[in-house]
Amino acid sequence: MDILVVGSVAFDSVETPFGKVEEALGGSATYFSTSASFFADVAMVAVIGEDFPEKHVEMLKNKGIDTRGLTRVSGGKTFRWTGKYDYDLNQAHTLDTQLNVISDFDPKLPDDYKKIPYLFLANIDPELQMKVLEQVESPRLIACDTMNFWIEGKPGKLKELLKGVEMLVINEGEAREFASEANLVRAARTILSCGPKTLIVKRGEYGALMFNGNTVFSAPAYPLEDIFDPTGAGDSFAGGLIGYLANTGNLSEENIRKAIVVGSTMASFNVEAFSLDRLSKLTLDEINNRFKSFKKLTHFEDL
Ligand code: AMP
Repeated sequence: MDILVVGSVAFDSVETPFGKVEEALGGSATYFSTSASFFADVAMVAVIGEDFPEKHVEMLKNKGIDTRGLTRVSGGKTFRWTGKYDYDLNQAHTLDTQLNVISDFDPKLPDDYKKIPYLFLANIDPELQMKVLEQVESPRLIACDTMNFWIEGKPGKLKELLKGVEMLVINEGEAREFASEANLVRAARTILSCGPKTLIVKRGEYGALMFNGNTVFSAPAYPLEDIFDPTGAGDSFAGGLIGYLANTGNLSEENIRKAIVVGSTMASFNVEAFSLDRLSKLTLDEINNRFKSFKKLTHFEDL
């Protein structure tokens, strides 16, 4: 196994200006691992309830994802998230969050999971992220995501967690909120002083920015004509990013730049359909072709 991820597995009810779904498959660990599975072997730590259909677990297994760490709680209800997007698709509005089985989850990693070299702490309760971090044995890379729900709900735990994280991947609005700073460059400096060496800021349709020491790198998002549902774009981005880093085993800044474009490529597919409908049917050829289009999109000659 190359990558260990802990995060949510969810039923999402989502409305965008282009349609809606009720109780569709979602969750940060689900999107992340499906996306990363195109590049590397992924093992998942998450919790589901009795109500979670086996066909969704089968979909993950068919992607080669190791689901031994996916715990089913008998009598429990799966995590549920209800969200809405207006015409500004960069901004998700949470209408309801039901933690359900996530509230009492106490993950115990199988022994072989503890030695997996790349760890991604996907968006979930920072106390749970910490419990996983405490069990692993010196991974090569520890990366992390979070969201406003936890920044507002458990800021102290999050700050403590960040001391042990090397790469933080979060949304632009959440970076500003976490740092209590409207200017993104200053917010990045504040966040980097909390522990992470690298900060990657996801900016929806405006792409992504990386702050690494004194350098900044900017990647665009792919200009798409048909966007249906941005849910999971951030997790698919992170899946492509960490998946590519694990695949190449190269953590140089040059390679992180390339991995960010792989992440943007995966996010661009994910938003073309609701839930995991696009990601689950994606092929490596499609990924390669869109990556090439990204290169053309950003290419320009010297003066
Ligand atoms: P994103 O990639 O940022 O669009 O993340 C979307 C996913 O995050 C959805 O599939 C939700 O199920 C999941 N999610 C929403 N709120 C939370 C939360 N508080 N904790 C963990 N996962 C969440």
